[in-house]
Amino acid sequence: MTDNKTTPVDEGRRRFLTASAAMAGVAVAPGVVLYEIAHGKPADEPASHAVRWGMLIDTNQCQEGCDECVKACGEENGFGHGTRETDSQWIRKVELRDMRTGRTKSLPVMCQHCAEPPCVDVCPTGASFKRPDGIVLVDRHICIGCRYCMMACPYKARSFVHERITDQNPDVPRGIGCVESCTMCVHRVDRDQQPACVEACARAGHGAILFGNLNDPNSEIAKRIAQYSTMELRADLKLNLGVRYQGF
Ligand code: SF4
Repeated sequence: MTDNKTTPVDEGRRRFLTASAAMAGVAVAPGVVLYEIAHGKPADEPASHAVRWGMLIDTNQCQEGCDECVKACGEENGFGHGTRETDSQWIRKVELRDMRTGRTKSLPVMCQHCAEPPCVDVCPTGASFKRPDGIVLVDRHICIGCRYCMMACPYKARSFVHERITDQNPDVPRGIGCVESCTMCVHRVDRDQQPACVEACARAGHGAILFGNLNDPNSEIAKRIAQYSTMELRADLKLNLGVRYQGF
């Protein structure tokens, strides 16, 4: 059955699916300037293969015990500070220990926005999809909650919504019985803003997460990847990830 009325959630979903991506150099606090150069374009233009949004996480800047990115993600996407096992978690802090040196690294892990996403391959309805600009999303109106994608994701990056959601952010439609994961804050990206985790990390004075266009050789993220040694998690899987790590 269809309903022609437009609800705030429908409007939010439309924005969520609206293609286009762009972002600007943003000062998030006095003295804190995020790195990226603006490549804005109107929000009603479709997402383009010319852009591939990605993140570079500098593990030397990421602080053990800090979870500002995790908190910002919850606040931005409407799931607060859930601590129960069944609560959604789109980004989590992980401690890695080098077995040889005993040195530990603290790093955030979220959907890695694979260029070859296994979650999209196994989805029986097409609910899991990748935008031309590389952002991997779930269309909650098509998701049947089978959770094949959760099993297929090597990074355990997806959550299942177990309970009815009230008081949700209309920009980030969520629903019981659906799978969800990091959207790279697509609703913000499509308005020339940075993902919430990126801004929160910069606000906290760490600046450990850099967001930008991997396809633009002049972007800060592409320059850093060209200049420094970076890695992908489980690079052996050859999924060509949109999230890279630096500082190992
Ligand atoms: S990290 Fe997991 S959820 Fe994200 S695109 Fe890859 S397989 Fe899909």
